[in-house]
Amino acid sequence: MIDLDHAATTRLYPEALDAMLPFLTGNHANASGAYGAARQTRRAIDEARVVVASCIGAKPGEIFFTSGGTEADNWALSGAVSAHPGRPHIVTSAIEHHAILEMCTALEEQGMHVTKLPVDHNAVVDCDMLMQIEKDGAKPALVSVMMANNEVGTIEPIQKIAGTAHAMGALMHTDAVQAVGHIPVNVDALGVDLLSMSAHKFGGPKGVGALYIRQGTRIGRFMHGGAQEMGMRPGTENTAGIVGMAKALEISVIHMKENALKTAALRDSLQGEILRRIPGARINAADAERLPGHLHITIDSISSSMLLMRLDMMGIAASAGSACASGALERSHVLLAMGASRDGQADLRLTLGADNTPEEIESAVAALERIVIRSQP
Ligand SMILES: *Cc1c(COP(=O)(O)O)cnc(C)c1O
Repeated sequence: MIDLDHAATTRLYPEALDAMLPFLTGNHANASGAYGAARQTRRAIDEARVVVASCIGAKPGEIFFTSGGTEADNWALSGAVSAHPGRPHIVTSAIEHHAILEMCTALEEQGMHVTKLPVDHNAVVDCDMLMQIEKDGAKPALVSVMMANNEVGTIEPIQKIAGTAHAMGALMHTDAVQAVGHIPVNVDALGVDLLSMSAHKFGGPKGVGALYIRQGTRIGRFMHGGAQEMGMRPGTENTAGIVGMAKALEISVIHMKENALKTAALRDSLQGEILRRIPGARINAADAERLPGHLHITIDSISSSMLLMRLDMMGIAASAGSACASGALERSHVLLAMGASRDGQADLRLTLGADNTPEEIESAVAALERIVIRSQP
């Protein structure tokens, strides 16, 4: 399989698996136990917390492990509003992941007010609109804007947005699931109070992630139970997952520069070849500052489902937009927010990683060429 769907998930680093194995096959102790093996487990989790914190410029006590990006996103939103009952308002953007948008819908059903900031044709969030909301005297509990979009790859001006959020007395959250491990992420430089990440997007295992919570931030608990994660996130720790996450992030950060350069070069050559050889292909968010591996195109002459099916038959994994949207007939909310029309076109998300090769890129272009040219009347 040629994997051009790295934004959906990534291959586990062998080093991460090696770090995890002792906690799957050897030491199975619950980190809360009062015996040697348990203390060993506890120590491994604490060491992982130090590594994850250092990779985003945070303190270890500000990292709370979760079951993934979705839980971290849900927690940030519900925790912010539950801790600030006098501010029943959330500001977010129109292009967030469903983990944010569906949680907003749930909170709206509980009486919360949600404002979704529009984006321009490159999927950049409208900061002027946010400043207008501030001038109008809005008092949201939270502003939540993703650091990088999972569909088109646009990197958002988080530092600027955080400044306006704080001027309103709101907390600032960013869903940095697509950014962490791929581009530099520093919580102080960004000025965020809350940040979500997910291990399986940077070579770690699935089902583990973290929410960064800046020291002193008032936020409610999302789950209720035991005293794990400093009493903020109950449940017996996923020791192997946490250890694997830390190892994967450490590796991703060490190799970030070279991987980003390599991936962006492959992406740029793929983009160039598509424009040259695929009739009617257009690049979405072409002028935005994008993640190194993201390429999102629209082809007018074929349907999304047909295109994905043919690519699948040729052994190429890609996506129609986001993983959750593939197979769906509706155009993605991200493309619609960018001003695309509702119907008629095939959207294709190709997301590359440092493990892709120039030969794979050439095979993918050749496959696209065959599919699109054959489908023409
Ligand atoms: C993948 C993703 C999530 C969800 O993370 P999971 O760990 O799969 O729950 C949230 N936000 C963005 C931007 C993502 O790409």
